[in-house]
Amino acid sequence: MPPHLVASSAFPETAKETRWSDRLAQRAVASQASVIRELLKLTQKPDIISFAGGLPAPEIFPVAEVREACERVLRDHGAEALQYSPTEGYPPLRELLVRHMKRYGIDVDVPNVVVTTGSQQALDLIGRVLINPGDRVLCEEPTYLGALQAWNAYQAQYLAVPIDDDGLRVELLEQAMRAGPKFLYVLPNFQNPAGVTLSLDRRHALVAMASHYGVPIVEDDPYGQLRYEGEHLPSIVALDAEFHGCAHGERTFRGDVLYLGTLSKTLAPGLRIGWIVAPEEIVKRIVQMKQGADLHSSTFAQAVAYEVARGGFLDRHVQHIRSVYRERRDAMLAALDRWFPRTVRWTRPQGGLFLWLSLPEGVNTTELLHDALAEKVAFVPGGSFFPGRVDAPHCRLNFSHSSPDRIEEGIRRLSLVVARRLRA
Ligand code: PMP
Repeated sequence: MPPHLVASSAFPETAKETRWSDRLAQRAVASQASVIRELLKLTQKPDIISFAGGLPAPEIFPVAEVREACERVLRDHGAEALQYSPTEGYPPLRELLVRHMKRYGIDVDVPNVVVTTGSQQALDLIGRVLINPGDRVLCEEPTYLGALQAWNAYQAQYLAVPIDDDGLRVELLEQAMRAGPKFLYVLPNFQNPAGVTLSLDRRHALVAMASHYGVPIVEDDPYGQLRYEGEHLPSIVALDAEFHGCAHGERTFRGDVLYLGTLSKTLAPGLRIGWIVAPEEIVKRIVQMKQGADLHSSTFAQAVAYEVARGGFLDRHVQHIRSVYRERRDAMLAALDRWFPRTVRWTRPQGGLFLWLSLPEGVNTTELLHDALAEKVAFVPGGSFFPGRVDAPHCRLNFSHSSPDRIEEGIRRLSLVVARRLRA
């Protein structure tokens, strides 16, 4: 035996079982599996009508277009598509995203855009780059569960400000802004979970107040294109440019607002393509952190997404998605009107994937989910969307993933379960 290797017999008594659970980092210990997460696993059974996930309708995925795009990518530049690529993203896709955003009034340059592995990764990278343990993030209440999960890992604290039917209650923001949050996280369009949209007046007020207090904003906008009625409202990042007097035709991105987009809801979530818009100093940091996380998002997926999206397909496809989801939203609203008692309230979203039920105070919606699963219908209990709370008398209902018939039946079943609870 070479002298530098010690015979295993030298440690006859010391063989120990490796116990990974004793070696967990604090952040992993803090994120215990929750009761709700365990219950939600049950919602994936095929006989359950699930309003729980945030899933797009699989039957409208553009499978044929993606297949043709894969063939073209492999035929025309297969080796490049299978190779490592820049962390910032596949250059033609970054250019396409810049053109795409310009049409929605967001005027940025290619160096401001980093392609991410879904916008969920953008949230995580924001955490890595910006959040120290104990930093306070100002957010809506309720807010996107996935952002809380991402930032809990960086030991963020939250300053939560309530929402109403017009989105974040900007009139209640000032005190929280004075408390010195790291940034404000806001979902202006068809918010997840509540489906509400920040009104234009409030958008203007928000931008003015954030500028006054010097609080930067993270604008998460996965659903902005999925509007089923009413006019498109300008994004916070665009209003920020306007507020600071950037004239049309000038380079308008100032960098006070980080903007997050994704192809998950307009093309397919399985491609895992999102992006973040940031000033170049933050792009540099994000790129460093992304290198450590995954080097870059899949070159192949980016090339395929580019190939599918170029030439106007994405816009045509979004029109189709809107018409399908509009019908499903209307089906859910009609079923709620038909089956639910007036003591329950719900939002009437102008777009997106979700609506939000508010039950009388004191109804435990985790228990309600138990009852609902027995009737083979599912939703996400509201507490998950409130930082630091376990339960809240609300339910998030997704309407994009079920057909109108299933929606009608699922809401009927849910109404029975709710009626029983309200009588109890
Ligand atoms: N932000 C919000 C508000 C979301 O609802 C979602 C997905 N449900 C994401 C980010 C993450 O989406 P993805 O990673 O698929 O882009």
